[in-house]
Amino acid sequence: MYRLVCIGCGAEYAPDEVIYRCRTCGHLLAVKYDLDSLNISRAEWDRRPLKLWRYREILPVTGDPVSLQEGGTPLYHMKRLGEELGLKNLYAKHEGMNPSGSFKDRGMTVGVSMAMQLGMKQVACASTGNTSASLAAYAAKAGMPAVVLLPAGKVALGKVAQALMHGAKVIAIRDNFDRALEMVHDLCISEGIYLLNSVNPYRLEGQKTIGLEVVDQLGDVPDRIVLPVGNAGNISAVHKGLGELIELGFIDRMPMMTGIQAAGSQPVVEAIAGNLPEVIPFKEPETIATAIRIGAPVNAEKALRAIRETGGTADSVTDEEILAMQRDLARKEGIGVEPASAASVAGIKKMVEDGRIDPDERIVCVVTGHLLKDPETVIRQCEPPIEIDADIQSLLSVLR
Ligand SMILES: *Cc1c(COP(=O)(O)O)cnc(C)c1O
Ligand SMILES: [Zn+2]
Repeated sequence: MYRLVCIGCGAEYAPDEVIYRCRTCGHLLAVKYDLDSLNISRAEWDRRPLKLWRYREILPVTGDPVSLQEGGTPLYHMKRLGEELGLKNLYAKHEGMNPSGSFKDRGMTVGVSMAMQLGMKQVACASTGNTSASLAAYAAKAGMPAVVLLPAGKVALGKVAQALMHGAKVIAIRDNFDRALEMVHDLCISEGIYLLNSVNPYRLEGQKTIGLEVVDQLGDVPDRIVLPVGNAGNISAVHKGLGELIELGFIDRMPMMTGIQAAGSQPVVEAIAGNLPEVIPFKEPETIATAIRIGAPVNAEKALRAIRETGGTADSVTDEEILAMQRDLARKEGIGVEPASAASVAGIKKMVEDGRIDPDERIVCVVTGHLLKDPETVIRQCEPPIEIDADIQSLLSVLR
């Protein structure tokens, strides 16, 4: 029904091979379905609950999945913020509403299910935080041991708490995410552990369902989909899923895929702006948005294609712009997200101000993780609670 295809040279591999990169050319692999042979009906999809597994015909798992009922996240019409920006059709897809609080759950329900299907006994990942939280939860559900490598001191508190509580073996290395990924890759190859970073093509299969849900929720294809970009797996995944809907004849056009990075960590933005064939890694990526503090995005090749083929773009925002938008989302729309997630909407604000957005555009910003993931960054921005004596007089006096 499907095979693994190298995105560089087109070499093909059987779906039951445990392989992350092409043996001939070293490029990443993608899952390719024989869509003509699949019996998919849109009406049948519509009859199922709006959850990730609604789309199971174009997911690689054959048996019962390891699921925590992920997907089906809300798509909010942001009326107030939209009005401020002069955009009537501005939406947020709140991926923080997944079981562990980020879109990584979409990748992990598929990835851990595939680990089971392939007969693997242990799973591992490197993570800026959310991948580890999600892997820990799904490994717990599957009853499989999990190992996660984090960059020491650079992971938001809520995410470490989750990885620990769900029972993963949590290891912090004294270096950045990019190094953690190299190390876990080597570990997995030498020890036969299943690698669940976004080099794993099956993880991206789960994540592509964000785009499928957006089309179902909106009842149409948006003009633009905007995502924060770290390793660039998610933007690649969403693009792939929508490409499959086109192949199936369910939609007839692509949204402009738009990636937003943090100014201190923007190799994809520079590659797009400079029309470079590939990204030049940032050696010391830095941003308060730790989820996208990644200097060498492993999925850059897929992401550059997604952006270029759809007439999209990439841009960056400063930490100040990210934090200001995190507050705006919370206070004007009731949408609580972690800093990286606010980057997508902050990017749109910047592009509107620069006159690069048609006000009639229908725009969906993917907001990727929940506010409670990074409570310390929140507390630092807000005034502390006002403490008073327990009497009405004191209460009234502080409210005046
Ligand atoms: C992982 C993550 C991202 C970045 O996604 P990539 O696929 O690495 O580009 C953005 N925001 C949050 C909250 C994340 O957890
Ligand atoms: Zn190849």
